Amino acid sequence: MKTIGLLGGMSWESTELYYRWINEETKRALGGLHSAPIAMVSVDFQEIEALQHRGDWSACADILVEKARAIEAAGADLLLICTNTMHKVAEDVEAAIGIPLLHIADATAAKITAAGLTTIGLLGTQFTMEQDFYRGRLERHGLRVLVPSESDRQLVHRVIYEELCLGIIRPDSRTEYLRIIEELTGSGAEGVIAGCTEITMLVKQDHTSTPLFDTTAIHARAAVSEALQ
Ligand code: GLU
Repeated sequence: MKTIGLLGGMSWESTELYYRWINEETKRALGGLHSAPIAMVSVDFQEIEALQHRGDWSACADILVEKARAIEAAGADLLLICTNTMHKVAEDVEAAIGIPLLHIADATAAKITAAGLTTIGLLGTQFTMEQDFYRGRLERHGLRVLVPSESDRQLVHRVIYEELCLGIIRPDSRTEYLRIIEELTGSGAEGVIAGCTEITMLVKQDHTSTPLFDTTAIHARAAVSEALQ
């Protein structure tokens, strides 16, 4: 099995899920005491978050490039950036390393296309919902992408940074997310992407009849299947 590289800590709440789900998937595939060879570097998210909200993406890219190189040097055969938002600098990271980057939007689009859906709602940070690096990438896979209204995008974004990335799960925030999912479905979305790696802590498939595409689980499973090839 190949060694899976994880660039984590954004936030560590979801990196923990990556680590668990990659190992569970590996155990399911190989049985016995098998676990996944992983090389991980985890950043200080406070620093990253400040740069994001200042719009200093080039400083974000510098940090992620340095960490990605360390992960490659540690023996990783492929790399995952364990957050949707930081795929904003995925191309810089990809250009700086010699191992393949498994892009979270590509893995997610493949899952949606395989399910036969074409119109999809997107929840995530405002960066993810509003900017071309993510929406555009999904659209280039042939998907029509719907996002919430501006005030709901602000709400979704605030819950991510002020609650989920701190490990805080509030039932009233879940109610709001479910309302927004309903509204996206009402506007024609055939499914909704949980396009932030912490959303899976708040909203699970059991909470809604709308097909939910959990990017954390999809990305982790895609890594295992790639590593086993
Ligand atoms: N983990 C989140 C995501 O998937 C948000 C944290 C970040 O800004 O990286 O977008």
